[in-house]
Amino acid sequence: MTGGPAPVRADRAAVAVVATTAEVLAHPDLHEGLLAPWERQRLAPIRLPGRRDDVLAARLLVRLCAARFTGRPPHESAPAQFCAECGRDGHGRPYLPDHPGAGVSLSHADGLVAAAVGPGAVGIDVEPSTRRPGPLSVLSRLLPEDELREAAARPDPGAALLRLWVRREAVLKAGQEGLRLLEWTDHRRAAVVTVASTAPVTTFSAARPGGGGA
Ligand SMILES: [Zn+2]
Repeated sequence: MTGGPAPVRADRAAVAVVATTAEVLAHPDLHEGLLAPWERQRLAPIRLPGRRDDVLAARLLVRLCAARFTGRPPHESAPAQFCAECGRDGHGRPYLPDHPGAGVSLSHADGLVAAAVGPGAVGIDVEPSTRRPGPLSVLSRLLPEDELREAAARPDPGAALLRLWVRREAVLKAGQEGLRLLEWTDHRRAAVVTVASTAPVTTFSAARPGGGGA
């Protein structure tokens, strides 16, 4: 490490990336050895191999995303986490210790992972495009009634409800209302994604240059 904490310019774009867990685990710059001891402790109790891979891949992808944002290599881009509710490290909102003020978010679901890093609050969520949230009785407690009604009236209400759900998760992770929303469907990976951010968002590919991918 060189120098102290670097202030983050507020006019910078946020960066976001979506990948499959398999893509991340095959990435030449990313491997389990990058994880801090506390992160490995969190992986240890996960019994389902697929879920363990998803959590591992999300923690690796957030390093790639932070590296893209800060210009530092992935092995110098480890996120920390702090829980404001209980005042302890190791869970809660992720952050970059060397970049105070930067927002960090990660997401994983059934073989898909996503990460975002920005100059301010940022939240990202990814879900398989085949997933259907519900039932409506539960959703009605979590989502605005007018938006629910509108989604339910669409030709494909399940897909519309999923997009609402993903948006809600991204906004919750950002911890702020009124942010810019970037929403898209990654058809190749069958993924529905939303980024909520104070800053405009630039997406990038986790695939190796020249190695194919989005
Ligand atoms: Zn806590």
